[in-house]
Amino acid sequence: MKTFALLLEARSPLAIRADHAPSGFGCLDYLPGTSLAGGLASLFRLLYPNERDEFKRLFLSGRVQFPDLLLTPLITSGDEQNEMQQEIPLSPVYPLPRTAQSCKRHPGFQGDNGRKQGESGHGVRDALFAWAIFALQPDDEPQAIKALKSQRSCEVCKAPMQSITGCYARHGTAFQLADYRGRRRLQTHTGIDRLRGTVQEEILYNREVLDEGTCFWGLLKASDEEAPLLQRFIEEAGHSGLVRVGTGRTRGLGAVELTLTPLQEASASWEHFRERLLTFDRKLKDYLATYKAPEPRKSQGQRGEPFYFALTLCSPTILCDEFLRYRGRIDEAALAELLGPPFTREDLRALHMAATLHRVTGWNDLWGLPRPVEYAIERGSVFLFAYWMRGDADRDELIKALFRLEEEGIGRRRNEGFGSVRISDPFHFEVL
Ligand SMILES: [Zn+2]
Repeated sequence: MKTFALLLEARSPLAIRADHAPSGFGCLDYLPGTSLAGGLASLFRLLYPNERDEFKRLFLSGRVQFPDLLLTPLITSGDEQNEMQQEIPLSPVYPLPRTAQSCKRHPGFQGDNGRKQGESGHGVRDALFAWAIFALQPDDEPQAIKALKSQRSCEVCKAPMQSITGCYARHGTAFQLADYRGRRRLQTHTGIDRLRGTVQEEILYNREVLDEGTCFWGLLKASDEEAPLLQRFIEEAGHSGLVRVGTGRTRGLGAVELTLTPLQEASASWEHFRERLLTFDRKLKDYLATYKAPEPRKSQGQRGEPFYFALTLCSPTILCDEFLRYRGRIDEAALAELLGPPFTREDLRALHMAATLHRVTGWNDLWGLPRPVEYAIERGSVFLFAYWMRGDADRDELIKALFRLEEEGIGRRRNEGFGSVRISDPFHFEVL
């Protein structure tokens, strides 16, 4: 499996619609993997109508995973006068977890240089560790409430904290929030009379678009055989001005440029991954110790020490149980199924979940029909687990299984950007 960072830059206004409901005109703040794959597939058919085999390998085999692309933050250049804003290329963008909270009056990261002077927020904090204490404390113990209370109001202005959504990127040691602000506008159009070709009376509609110059970022994965083919195609087509995504493609919207950058070898990232998981576990144990939280209670047959890890969803995830019912959360049974043997639900305990469901719709250009409706666990959902390890070797076995989940993704429709997961995201302890 090879991984590439994909940067998409809008060359014309971009309209990305969530569905085809006639009443909706809103624009999404991310580009779904299905739209990206659809845009590239139609261009491939246009450029190489006879290379059916290559088409099959890239778009139908499922060996290339087209990710959801997330909005990148803006950074203002030093010159405040002309307020020129430019994008930071290629710094990874992640969704804010559902446990993230920020000041109600001044939301956003502290020292966020993407904002104009005075607009920087009062800071973002993550409540996952506090919720872990809440889950572990016996009911009559006030410590849990103390941990959560400390997260209740803003440290700067004492306003209440509330949850914050969106994406963020890291720039050096500082975090930057990526949101719509200053980057979307309404375009107003008139309907055309089908008979006369003139303006149709009483038909005036709005369409929300993102400005040209807006950038999106995502991780594209391809198997080793497909990677060179994909790289060649994107290098040829990416800057040709022919790639179009989103809606309104025949009205001049959606022209984009694509830049693909290969990332380093996976073997180096395994060490890195292991270190990240161990750090998360250690940080959470330190935090629990400061609040004197007890270890999770064991049920029968559980031995050993708990090892903590969290699953944070970077894209919506479609999971089904054995009766093909959609799962609304990842519990012990679901995780044991994902990890595979020898891990069983008895070894695991879900300590905290912050998750919502989301309806997935869409349009399939190839069929000319709407896609079937499915239900996905929303991006940014967080699941905290404890695992009873029987020694270090056993723990490494678990880390290996989790590494596979992060590498391959989980659930259905992974080649369309669903099911991308990050294990033990450092965000949870970095902005405590
Ligand atoms: Zn504040």
